Amino acid sequence: MPSRVAARVPEPVVFEPPDTALAVARRAADRGLCAECFGRLFGRLGHGLSNPERAERIRGALGLGPSLPAAECPLCGGTFARLDVWVDRAVRAAEGFEWHRFTCGSRWDPELLAREEALWAEVGTEWGESARAALNRELGKRIEARTGASGGPESPDLVLLADLPVGRVETTVLPVYLEGRYRKLDRTLPQTRWPCRRCRGRGCERCGGTGKTYPTSVEELVGEALVAATGAEGTRFHGMGREDIDARMLGRGRPFVIELRRPRVRSIDLAAAGAAIARTAAGRVEVDGLKPATALDVVRVKEANPEKSYRVGVIGEVPVAKVNEALSLAVARAIAQRTPTRVAHRRSDRVRTRRVVAAHLVEATEGRFTLEVRTEAGTYVKEWVEGDGGRTEPSFAALVGVPLKVEFLDVLEIHDSEVT
Ligand SMILES: [Zn+2]
Ligand SMILES: [Zn+2]
Repeated sequence: MPSRVAARVPEPVVFEPPDTALAVARRAADRGLCAECFGRLFGRLGHGLSNPERAERIRGALGLGPSLPAAECPLCGGTFARLDVWVDRAVRAAEGFEWHRFTCGSRWDPELLAREEALWAEVGTEWGESARAALNRELGKRIEARTGASGGPESPDLVLLADLPVGRVETTVLPVYLEGRYRKLDRTLPQTRWPCRRCRGRGCERCGGTGKTYPTSVEELVGEALVAATGAEGTRFHGMGREDIDARMLGRGRPFVIELRRPRVRSIDLAAAGAAIARTAAGRVEVDGLKPATALDVVRVKEANPEKSYRVGVIGEVPVAKVNEALSLAVARAIAQRTPTRVAHRRSDRVRTRRVVAAHLVEATEGRFTLEVRTEAGTYVKEWVEGDGGRTEPSFAALVGVPLKVEFLDVLEIHDSEVT
């Protein structure tokens, strides 16, 4: 629970209703409004006063006598007299979650809001504040005073929604985001949880009741410790692209953002979390540079299109001189690459132009050689080497004039920033 108490500096009072406002007040005088709803007709006039104080001043100036009791108010039906009840409900709804910043909202009977707008037109006010805005503000102030948390629209931990017709407060807990880079040292791991195709995650004979195609994933190995530390309900994993399941991810690792859904704890000891991930991942995955992130970092990571470097092991009988000649032809040349059949289920079938930015031969033995290749984002390296049955033109196999097969593939570097 939050503990800071924000000090409020009182605003100077400025409130000089013009004659037109007094005429509005006379027309509204017999509507049976409570002080809050009467004052709200002038809510955007002057400042430094609450709406009931505005009502009191105007009624005093016109000799109108006190406002009616809130419970009989035809507009709010006494909602503004029950603010403390709503604060209680909000605090109870948020129990069990760590929160420091919050936003208040409210759901109203739409008929009531329409009645309010009709009233504004009938009495001719140009200063009306909506019941919804006023309630959200007043609830926010009281929740701040009660809990020490700070209210406002910016990056809340919680959204507290007072559902007036239903009589309860709904809590939306915003996710916690962490970013970092991962290395994947295991050729059997998908990046994210992969639901079983047959049962779609419910569990069936084919997946042994796990609901998954692969027993675990980078997402799960990284997420498990974070879920345990935060009491989150689950994770979403956003990688800057993804490598094939059987490719390792080496070098500085791949940038990612992990989203922890409905966390109970938001203050995370990152060093302890990093150590816990290392224990869970047990050398299959390594994470560096874990730090707090935001939803904007998810967008940045998803939209980045960095070049990538690969090490490719190739099976094929090609003389070294021929490999080097073909590499010099391949670099910087446009490659027309039609979507490989193996990814056609998630990417549209079209021809994309890509380039190999740099390439060199690392080693060659009898019937095998290893290349290091730097490519533009979105290049399918395995298909570029093998040719994908003519779907990649020209392929490296076409340039050497011999059929080639990729034996292994490792991602060496994601060039989202320069290697230091
Ligand atoms: Zn009222
Ligand atoms: Zn299944």
